[in-house]
Amino acid sequence: MKSYREYLYFKTRERVEFINITEEVEKVLARSGIKEGLCLVNAMHITASVFINDDEPGLHHDYEVWLEKLAPHEPVSQYRHNGFEDNADAHLKRQIMGREVVVAVTDGKLDFGPWEQIFYGEFDGRREKRVLVKVIGE
Ligand code: ZN
Repeated sequence: MKSYREYLYFKTRERVEFINITEEVEKVLARSGIKEGLCLVNAMHITASVFINDDEPGLHHDYEVWLEKLAPHEPVSQYRHNGFEDNADAHLKRQIMGREVVVAVTDGKLDFGPWEQIFYGEFDGRREKRVLVKVIGE
């Protein structure tokens, strides 16, 4: 069995952003040379997510509104986690949107369902963060 690993780096301009990283993951998969196996993609930070869904701007807006209702950023004093930091809401948003995805690799391609794309979800941005891509198989 072969194993291949790369990091992707992000520094978003906004505090909350969703970025389609499907093409970058496909490039990592191509560099791995693996044709059959599994591809893990996970955020290396506890205030960011990796998730799979539709690349549709209306949906991404809906996510932002929904997450802000569930875990509003302001007032920051409402959270016990805040004090040295102001990112309690980002931890909660990350929990809902998830840490990682695993995609089957078939014939050298990511084996997606209809409309599936991979996204990096940032909830406490404006600083550099990493995403791990690990491919195993043969
Ligand atoms: Zn924190």
